[in-house]
Amino acid sequence: MANQQIKNERMEAIVSLAKRRGFIYPGSDVYGGLSGTWDYGPLGVTLKRNIMQLWWKMFVESRDDMFGIDAAILMNQKVWQASGHVDTFTDPLVEDLVTGQRYRADHLLKDKGFDVDGLSLADITQLIRDNDVKSPDGNELSKARTFNMMFRTFVGPMQGDEMTIGEPGDEASKKLAGKGNNLEGMKAVTYDPASVSYLRPETAQGIFTNYKNVVDNFYPDLPFGLAQQGKAFRNEISPRDFVFRSREFEQMEIEYFVHPDKWAEAFEALLADVHAYLQALGLPADHIHELEVPENDRAHYSKRTIDIEYDFPIGREELMGIAYRTDFDLGNIQRVAGKNMEYNVKGTNEKFVPHVIEPSFGVERALMAVLSAAYTEDEVNGDKRIVMKFPEHLAPIKYCVSPLLKNKPELVAKAREVYVALKQKHGNVMWDDNGNIGKRYRRQDEIGTPYCVVIDFDTIEKDGLVSVRDRDTTEQKRVSIDELVA
Ligand code: ATP
Repeated sequence: MANQQIKNERMEAIVSLAKRRGFIYPGSDVYGGLSGTWDYGPLGVTLKRNIMQLWWKMFVESRDDMFGIDAAILMNQKVWQASGHVDTFTDPLVEDLVTGQRYRADHLLKDKGFDVDGLSLADITQLIRDNDVKSPDGNELSKARTFNMMFRTFVGPMQGDEMTIGEPGDEASKKLAGKGNNLEGMKAVTYDPASVSYLRPETAQGIFTNYKNVVDNFYPDLPFGLAQQGKAFRNEISPRDFVFRSREFEQMEIEYFVHPDKWAEAFEALLADVHAYLQALGLPADHIHELEVPENDRAHYSKRTIDIEYDFPIGREELMGIAYRTDFDLGNIQRVAGKNMEYNVKGTNEKFVPHVIEPSFGVERALMAVLSAAYTEDEVNGDKRIVMKFPEHLAPIKYCVSPLLKNKPELVAKAREVYVALKQKHGNVMWDDNGNIGKRYRRQDEIGTPYCVVIDFDTIEKDGLVSVRDRDTTEQKRVSIDELVA
């Protein structure tokens, strides 16, 4: 319990720093917020892009077996019917019978120490009854029922009309009312089922629907992968733990197409690549754990899944997953859309529907792991400091440049020169001439700037050297401007 307390304090400190220093803000905050949504501030957007670009560089640009794509978020509803999302992309929901507040039944049970993976709704309800599990407000809970997490929307002007039941000409509601329901005065919406679409709950399907396009255009040898980064939306019953469980988030997914007999080796190779990426994110190896997901907990199409879990301040939770999806998705397209998804091995008559290995990352979870790995409290000359020890290649600001005093034009002019030269080279360079040098260092430590450059009188009058202070060691070195901007 004491441990848990510290862990949550650490999480709170990170959330507070993220808001205070311009990384991440609660979504729609000025209007009272919108649960499960987060906005990225000037530093957060850069950090997030650096995380995504590193992934793109390691998994796409530096390889010749990967192709990038960027598919539309809105897709034909048949995609989600064929993939099984319309019927099965659900979580178990229970309702507080007094407040009406809704919760994820599996999370409530997990918090009480029960493992509910693979249990039916009836089993979950029974477990709640047998153990007298109550809502967080201490009230009775309803039976568990399924809740589909996809955000439904309507495409085009066929959305339908909102009307008050009982209005003249409202035939549909009259029929309902005729069945003994008292619906008068209630609002109803009519819609054309053909106009229904969903905000995609995963980026993967946009890859599968483009598999044939890329094969026809590029005819790559197997194995090869299609990679995509982009938004995904899930109407989570209870978004929680900062950005960890959001309703709008980003994914970085690869569908790696292999010969059906070669899936196991491709799985191992991609798993090793995943670990290399986690290392490049600066995550400590002892915080990373592989969970071999047992058969009854795996998605129905998966023959093998490994969840990579991470020791977040909120506890050990899923950071990303890698799954062997067999030919489930391409097979569905073939079956439902009637399009041939077979791969023809060059120079042979061999044809088959490729199997797929899918490493799937959530950007927000990667970002939360990076923030929590970087967050450090230490002491410098007896003063407590907070420092974000981001790996240099992820830090949102690479250098901060300051004149020692802001009211000395000769210092300011020289500092400006250095600032412009560094900015041309690195882009993300900050100018800071506020307060004394010690305060500037503290501010930069909090946002994780690896180097602070100060131009002082010695720079101008004596040696032309500037002082470069290292974030982690706080040591300062005198370096020539040429060397710094080279
Ligand atoms: P969980 O069990 O935590 O709900 P999941 O197993 O449903 O996650 P997947 O469907 O495998 O997740 O999605 C792939 C990745 O997308 C996850 O490993 C995670 O990094 C990310 N992800 C999934 N749901 C969310 C969410 N609500 N908010 C942020 N990231 C998410």
